Amino acid sequence: MNLNINNDSVTEIISAERLHVRIRELGSEISRDYAEIATPLVVIGVLKGAFIVLADLVRTITIPCTIDFLHASSYGSEKVSSGTVTIRHKITSIQNRHVLLVEDIIDSGLTMQRITGDLLQMNPASMKIFTLLDKPEARKLPVDIAYTGFVVPDRFIVGYGIDFNEQYRELSSIGIINQ
Ligand code: 5GP
Repeated sequence: MNLNINNDSVTEIISAERLHVRIRELGSEISRDYAEIATPLVVIGVLKGAFIVLADLVRTITIPCTIDFLHASSYGSEKVSSGTVTIRHKITSIQNRHVLLVEDIIDSGLTMQRITGDLLQMNPASMKIFTLLDKPEARKLPVDIAYTGFVVPDRFIVGYGIDFNEQYRELSSIGIINQ
């Protein structure tokens, strides 16, 4: 399906239906994997892109969890990475807690390396990474991903929380912008 929004043409690559099915599967897997933990799972979303996937994911997880967010930005207004990652967070203590980091896309791996470096200093009991989308072709640094929604090509993605110049986050499916 092609959408023409403003001056961009967006081609859908993952429908809302497929997103929901896959997120339900991963929610069940996460609930099984953490079934034995003694304290609620700490789910931390990376803003802004992960806000929709986190909201959908936590409603499929059947074990107790707490929710927090941190803010990371690596892209400016253009479709290219600036190479520097800015992280802002004021998360509650994660010491001795099991943490699940929820990201929208892992691309070069720079953002995840910065975030995990920061969070590991807070001595969590464990930390795993969930990403809705993985772009392995663009990887510059290795990332140990525990849960992946979909592998996507090295194209510019929008929708389902993910923006271009702050637009398209509200689309219920995932698309690529045709240039
Ligand atoms: P990395 O640091 O792994 O290169 O990039 C991670 C972040 O870059 C993601 O959280 C996301 O915000 C942004 N990003 C990576 N690829 C894309 C893309 O195709 N579209 C958009 N809108 N953002 C992307």
